[in-house]
Amino acid sequence: MNYQMNYLPGATILMEGETGDCAFIIDKGVVEVSVQREDEKIVLAILKDGDIFGEMALVSGDVRSASVHALTPTTVSVICRPYFQEKLAQTDPIIAMLMRLLLARFHEARSKLLSMPKTCLINIDGKNQEGNPVTEKEAQREVLVRFKFINDLQSALAKHQFLLHYQPIYVLANGKLAGFEALIRWQHSEKGMITPNHFINIAEDTKEIIPIGYWVFETACRNLKLMRDTLGIDQHSAEPWMSVNVSPTQIKDTALLERFGQILDMTGIDPHVIKIELTESVLVENPQLALTFIREVKQLGMKVAVDDFGTGYSSLSYLHLFPIDILKIDRTFVANMFSDFRCREIINAIVALSKSLNIEIVAEGVETKELEAVLHELNCRYAQGFLYSRPVAIDKAMALLENRLSEY
Ligand code: C2E
Ligand code: CA
Ligand code: CA
Repeated sequence: MNYQMNYLPGATILMEGETGDCAFIIDKGVVEVSVQREDEKIVLAILKDGDIFGEMALVSGDVRSASVHALTPTTVSVICRPYFQEKLAQTDPIIAMLMRLLLARFHEARSKLLSMPKTCLINIDGKNQEGNPVTEKEAQREVLVRFKFINDLQSALAKHQFLLHYQPIYVLANGKLAGFEALIRWQHSEKGMITPNHFINIAEDTKEIIPIGYWVFETACRNLKLMRDTLGIDQHSAEPWMSVNVSPTQIKDTALLERFGQILDMTGIDPHVIKIELTESVLVENPQLALTFIREVKQLGMKVAVDDFGTGYSSLSYLHLFPIDILKIDRTFVANMFSDFRCREIINAIVALSKSLNIEIVAEGVETKELEAVLHELNCRYAQGFLYSRPVAIDKAMALLENRLSEY
């Protein structure tokens, strides 16, 4: 697990000659990198916010080749070797080999450099006397920013920085609020509110989506129960329901459904009002796994929705293979209904087929009254989009529900 450390001015962060198993990214502060040669201290570099040091230990686990001291109050993010090794193991073996080779070369060049006059050494900006290309430095910074982002993401759950917003889904024919979709947001301490498109992929890559996904599921179940209980909705009423997004990495987690089952019991929510959303691409890329997963979700009593339909290039005839309850037509499809008559025809075909397969349709991304009218004409049952409401916090979601309940 990666973590943060704070140092006062003068404190030693690492010592030349010690064995090391982590690297450091400076979140805030200034440090001095130096080596001791006989009686003389040679300063190799002054590093500041966003710079990395101690990175060689991540690859080689060798002893530290320089000492680092804080010059000002300094906060660093610590990247641990097991984390890096795991990443390296997943990397193309050629890249991993190149990395080790480059490091060996660097060691060699560095010891030669240290025997040269001081003017040849790397200066404050990491440029040598001839001047390294800036673009290299920029590329390095980009990697570090990503590292820092991953680090922040890994501690976000423990720091309670995630929250769920709820976007209502309405019955087109009568405007009744039928359910919500739970959508995650990350309240980052420096960057503010981050939407999922900026971090879900990274959470998938790092597998952090597994614990995040449990948190999402539990919070969504708990809050639906809270809304239903507070507004006195009959326990057996099928509405309002809650849709929860589940990503491909989560589906591969063999413990997922057992844990979901425990969360359903613990929160006391009726499983029939929870819908698990899988993207169409999951069905296309791994149909066998998807089928097993869908069956197990249904055994737990929950419903299954196929999300972003129209983007995964599955054929309509494919659908009958999967016992799904809801099909969500992707918003790009919905948005193109006016400009591309084929989109309209396809939606027509989907609605017709869904009737015979007993599948409900939700149109996503409904932004205008014109789209709403066409979807209504096409007999689409549910609609979700900015025309009705953006995703909102729990109190606002509850108010929307309460207003609609009073109308019916
Ligand atoms: P999605 O599942 O397709 O969710 C719908 C997205 O469309 C949401 O974006 C929502 O704010 C946006 N949207 C809704 N109505 C409209 C509209 O009328 N116009 C436009 N332009 N957009 C609309 P959001 O919240 O940024 O989420 C993006 C994606 O992140 C989601 O797409 C979903 O794939 C993923 N995601 C969100 N929450 C979770 C989560 O808890 N777990 C996982 N695994 N993925 C999540
Ligand atoms: Ca979704
Ligand atoms: Ca979608």
